[in-house]
Amino acid sequence: MKQPEPTASANEPVNPVAAYLRMDRIPHIWCPGCGLGTVVNCLVRALMTCAIPRNDISIVSGIGCTGRVAGYLALDSFHTTHGRAIPFATGLKLANPKLKLVVVSGDGDLFAIGGNHFIHAARRNMDMTVLCVNNFTYGMTGGQVTPTTPLDAIASTTPYGNFEDPFNLPHLAESSGAVYVARWTTLHVRQAVKSIRDAIRKKGFSFVEILSPCPTLYGRRNRLGDGLEMMRQFKEKSVVRNGADTREAGLDFKGGILCGTFIDRERPTFLDRYNETMAERLGHAFTPYGGVL
Ligand code: SF4
Repeated sequence: MKQPEPTASANEPVNPVAAYLRMDRIPHIWCPGCGLGTVVNCLVRALMTCAIPRNDISIVSGIGCTGRVAGYLALDSFHTTHGRAIPFATGLKLANPKLKLVVVSGDGDLFAIGGNHFIHAARRNMDMTVLCVNNFTYGMTGGQVTPTTPLDAIASTTPYGNFEDPFNLPHLAESSGAVYVARWTTLHVRQAVKSIRDAIRKKGFSFVEILSPCPTLYGRRNRLGDGLEMMRQFKEKSVVRNGADTREAGLDFKGGILCGTFIDRERPTFLDRYNETMAERLGHAFTPYGGVL
């Protein structure tokens, strides 16, 4: 979708990412101190350096506070049903293999309702980037426990503390077959931009987790302070170790945060294997929907 380039009067600064935003929908709905605006900024800056034609990029999100991201981006973007962003993106990819798919969604949407889709897309090495904004809670629906809420953390559905072991997302992504896996926080904006860019350029299933403050529903309940204070905690607790073993990337309620690019490897994608088989059997490479490649 083409947007007019931003213009400014002499005294009015130009938002450097405005060309990628649907400015008619700004201001956004997110709370003061929420990390989602920072993630959008990182994603747009990564897209700006990717040199991929804008018509070849599609953004897909699920439901929740993060699900709103698709609606703010001036790209072909899709706000899908809860947990179904990855199968929706899979359909787009199979119908038009030239598209670069970026799924942006939250920890609840991607790993509870959509957890099944995540592991199978990674197993198939479906060519797409999944960007998970992990704020350890369901923000939009009232602060319920999610598959990443740390043990002992308070949620609206675990008022005495969470007693379920959370997922270690980088390890889940690696174990399921992702070819690129990284984790940063909203404090690590330069590293996040680079990782998102590398993930988008990577052929295959790439995964970037960004830890992000939700001061309204997670921080307040757990006495972690406002958004700025939660960013201070990211600074104090983060340890960057590129190439670290993802088994060490589990998160405690108040423990350290292992960040870095953990996995960067090669595997044939779903379409590579599909087309190899079709070429052997039929003499042509086809998309699953019949177009000759
Ligand atoms: Fe952000 Fe939490 Fe507010 Fe949602 S509820 S906009 S995640 S701070």
